[in-house]
Amino acid sequence: MIIDSKSTSSRETESKQFFETTLISAETAGFLLIGDWGDDQNIEHVKKVADAMNIQATARNSSAVIALGDNFYAGGRYDYEGVKAIDDVKFETLWADIYNGSAIESLPWYVVLGNHDWYTNDSNTFEMLYDSSKWQIPDFFYTKRFQIQTSTSLFNASFIFIETDLLFYGYQQGSEAIPANFAKLGWSAANATVEKQLAWIDRALAEANNDQYVFLLGHHPTFTCVSHVLESVNMLSVLELVNKWKISAFVNGHQHSLAYYYTNDNNTLQIQSGAGGTSLALPCAPVNSSAPGKELAQTYGFSHLELSSSAAIFDFVDENSNTVFSASVSPRRPVDVKVNCEFLTSACDSSIHFKRALGDTCANIPAIDGFLCYSNDSAKNSEVLLAVSIGIICVSFVVWKI
Ligand SMILES: [Zn+2]
Repeated sequence: MIIDSKSTSSRETESKQFFETTLISAETAGFLLIGDWGDDQNIEHVKKVADAMNIQATARNSSAVIALGDNFYAGGRYDYEGVKAIDDVKFETLWADIYNGSAIESLPWYVVLGNHDWYTNDSNTFEMLYDSSKWQIPDFFYTKRFQIQTSTSLFNASFIFIETDLLFYGYQQGSEAIPANFAKLGWSAANATVEKQLAWIDRALAEANNDQYVFLLGHHPTFTCVSHVLESVNMLSVLELVNKWKISAFVNGHQHSLAYYYTNDNNTLQIQSGAGGTSLALPCAPVNSSAPGKELAQTYGFSHLELSSSAAIFDFVDENSNTVFSASVSPRRPVDVKVNCEFLTSACDSSIHFKRALGDTCANIPAIDGFLCYSNDSAKNSEVLLAVSIGIICVSFVVWKI
């Protein structure tokens, strides 16, 4: 397997993070999916899952780990949820010192936040600022495209990572420091933050529409646990987008079990991988109880996604490295639907974007309803983006590139 270390950026998108592409030259590409894991009071099970991940990664030559939120819990040696500082010791004791098997120690982790990562003041910010090349959470909403070159074919798989906490709890209902942390970011009804976040997801799915595989990944479920979905404020709106674009899979944690369900005439999988190490949960029925699928509760584990030109296969693996069940979907075809631009917002808007991820300069241009961004990050191509909204048409392009 060869991963091209020089990423390239799409030229047609609103943010410099949109669809950075990594080339993998292999017959298949593998990804480890773990949710709800950093719990010191359950450290023996956390370690067993990490060991099982390493065994699978060794056998499958996996390319990356995807962390589905609730990354750091209170318990054991720690009396606080999430993290309290950029250099919090939990990054060592519950992450670097745990997932250090020979096959996984150098893998990049693509991370989203869960509710436990928001419970402590500024914990969300500290997790995003943690300085490790392996810990990738460049923005609240971000994308990553893998282009897989096999001996006979070339195909694309897009991963769209989303922040579900506001969509789940709304502006005021989350517990502990969640509402205060939202307020610090300016996330409010007055700013139409929920509508802007849903619009970003819609736009990202449109950008990925020609790809053979499209995965939407966040912490809270849209389908796999009906009690959670119905108690949420907006996860049914996310489910509408999943079904509108007939994506390959929506992938979540939060409910501490392993599960899959087929929807959209078997074109879309709903995947739950929330058994990474914290306390286990009872089974939870899906939104549509007649959807074909399975759930394994009361068992620690993770899932493994293998992509080939013919299928995306999710294997669900327990802490003893046994594959307990599997599910797969075929490559998708583009769907003929349109993005709703009404609430699309600029790359400068903290409703979507983490300010530190935007580069050195980012300014709105109200006169043309557009924005300019400039980055001089030496690790990336420097570029000036200009984006303009004209009615419902959203146009963005690079006007200058070094
Ligand atoms: Zn959770």
